Amino acid sequence: MNECVAFIGLGSNLEHPESQVQRAIQALDGLPGSSVQAVSSLYRSAPMGPQDQPDYVNAVVQLATGLLPEELLDQLQRVEQVHGRERGQHWGPRTLDLDILLYGDAVIETECLQIPHPGLAQRNFVLYPLAEIDDHTMVPGLGSVQVLLAQCPRGDLVCLEETAHSVG
Ligand code: AMP
Repeated sequence: MNECVAFIGLGSNLEHPESQVQRAIQALDGLPGSSVQAVSSLYRSAPMGPQDQPDYVNAVVQLATGLLPEELLDQLQRVEQVHGRERGQHWGPRTLDLDILLYGDAVIETECLQIPHPGLAQRNFVLYPLAEIDDHTMVPGLGSVQVLLAQCPRGDLVCLEETAHSVG
């Protein structure tokens, strides 16, 4: 099985968000043919879209995986379901949101999957944790994470604890 390095963005703002994110990281490590290689610190960010919802807790994980991109998306949506994710209002509150930010150097544009994730370059809550893990990572078509980070204000993003670490 060919392994690929993917980066997954995690977010939660309901039902003990920090615990949702921590449990999701464990679930990612348990996905078929996959293992978590590095985990960023947890961050607190202001919500996008509707403001009448709690702040988010975010993190980014580096995942080595033998799953194909569509298989990985399917597995992530299963994890979201297990965490009680209900699809309602666009950008509305959620127990768990999992996004494929990068999948190796793949560029994918299908009806259900866009990689690199379209919000990656603008979102402080994605770029700062991603850079903590590996700021040399190249975002296809856009340059290195380091370059994107330099163009993205930190804003009101708060690092909850400097806990970034490699695994294994
Ligand atoms: P969300 O509301 O953020 O959970 O969006 C979920 C939808 O985004 C799913 O139906 C996916 O098919 C679609 N999607 C497109 N690109 C991605 C990606 N890179 N990672 C996760 N979901 C994606």
